[in-house]
Parts: sequence; structure tokens; C-alpha cells
Amino acid sequence: MDLGIKEKRALVLGASRGLGKAIAQALAAEGAVVFAAARSVDKISSYADAADTLHAVELDLGQIDQVDRVVDGLIKDGGVDIIVNNGGGPPPGAAQTAERAAWLQHFEAMAANLFHLNARLLPMMKERGWGRIISITSSGVEQPIPNLALSNGIRSAVVGWSKTLANEVAGDGITVNVVMPGRIHTQRVDELDAAAAKRTGADVAEVAAKSRRTIPAGRYGKPEEFADVVTFLASARAGYVTGSKIRIDGGSIKSI
Ligand code: NAD
Repeated sequence: MDLGIKEKRALVLGASRGLGKAIAQALAAEGAVVFAAARSVDKISSYADAADTLHAVELDLGQIDQVDRVVDGLIKDGGVDIIVNNGGGPPPGAAQTAERAAWLQHFEAMAANLFHLNARLLPMMKERGWGRIISITSSGVEQPIPNLALSNGIRSAVVGWSKTLANEVAGDGITVNVVMPGRIHTQRVDELDAAAAKRTGADVAEVAAKSRRTIPAGRYGKPEEFADVVTFLASARAGYVTGSKIRIDGGSIKSI
């Protein structure tokens, strides 16, 4: 199937590792010109060198001046057709003890600065009558995860923003969707399992096995499987999918 994104320009955020990296590589493999952004460009350069359609961009999403500088450069260069909103997750913690300063700090990097970046890049998509905006959230927006108050709360704001924007720009040929990872096997998931093992004194393999047993598919997802779904949503073929939340979770979310 030709996905129709050869030479489309794609900005992938949080692309130094994990899901962002897999998506940047998948889009580049389909012939898109990819701007892969993260705080450490070295990590991107290490895999970007292989493909001359993949460019590393330095960007800390917590710094609005950096966001504006990157956007200025992209606009000068012709804008982008595809945006994949992604970045780091916030620290764990309960809702009843989460501090105001933490809400503000993480809301800025995970929501407000992303909304600003997208709003600035949208006019050029509208001019071209084509665009794809995909935001990575979490299964926690449908089934809040215990002790992840900041993540559940802030990512739900991304969902509300995404749906509102989808309705505003559907007539301009721009689709806006949210993807929800359940448990996809990235370095972050290994780190989370290791932290849980340390906290409970259990063996890390036991922790991972217990976690896998909660997933109907019986395994963690692969970053490439996640990237395939995102790449399809970014494609010309997915032109009639908008305003949606799409689960990539091996069946973990209990409700339908
Ligand atoms: P990850 O931690 O491996 O990757 C996050 C990426 O974002 C990295 O490239 C990191 O450098 C970058 N990043 C972090 N802070 C940043 C900042 N301030 N500015 C710019 N870039 C920044 O995580 P992942 O497993 O690839 O997941 C991606 C996102 O999806 C994360 O927000 C994660 O919490 C969320 N998520 C992942 C899973 C999963 O199963 N992997 C499940 C639920 C939610």
C-alpha cells in the first residue's frame, strides 16, 4: 500500500529514543522528510546519519524560547505537513499530594508549549489544505493509572485540545488524532519495571512477567508496531480518520 507521504515534511518530537525514535524511522522509511527533535541531538544523529531524509533538531519542550526558535526555522524552510506530539512522561505521584508547581511545570512542557507549537505551524498546513497531527498520550486517559496523577491529568488536557482542534480544521484537510500506548517495550518501560522491582524487593523479571499477565495479548508491544499505527494515521490513506483516540495496548484497557 502506498501511504502517499513521500517528501511530506514531518516533525517528530521526543525522538531521541523509544516511541518517538521508532516513529521518526518509520516515517523516513516511507519517504517523508523527517525533523526528529529532542534535547540531545547526539542521540538522534547516531541513527539519523543512516538516512539522509532524517534531520536532528535540538529542542527542550520545557523551554518556550527554544520552541519558538525551532518553529521559526521550520516556517522559514516551508513548514511541516505532519506533527507527532511526544515527549517525556512526568514523575509518578498521588493526586492528593501533587504540588501546584509540578502541575504547572509539566503542563508547560507536555501541553501548553505543544499547543503553541502546533498553533504556529497550522497556518501553513491550512494553506496547503493537508495536514496530520498525532499526539501520543497514554492508556491512562481512558483508564487512569494509579499513582500517575500528573500524567492522567495533563494528558487528558491534550485529548480535549486534540478533539477541539480536530473539529476546527477538519474542513481544511487536516486530521488531528490521539494515540494511547498501553505498555510498549521501550527503555522507559524497562526503567519503570526496574524501579518497581527496587521498590518492592521483587526480581525485575518477575515484575515484568506480572505486568505482561495483565495484558490480554500476553506481551509488551513493540515500538515498531506502535510506529506502524502512527505512520498510517500520518498517511494520505487515513484522510477520513480525525478527532479520534486510538488504542495501541494489546487489549489492556478494560472497557470497550
Ligand atoms: P521515553 O522516555 O523513552 O522517550 C521520551 C522521549 O521524549 C525521549 O526522546 C526524551 O529525550 C524526550 N523528552 C523528554 N523530555 C523532553 C523535553 N523536555 N523536551 C524534548 N524532549 C523530551 O518514553 P517512550 O516509552 O518512548 O514514551 C513516549 C511517551 O509516551 C512518554 O511521554 C511516555 O510517558 C508515554 N507513554 C509511553 C508508554 C509506553 O508503553 N512506552 C505508555 C504510556 C505512555
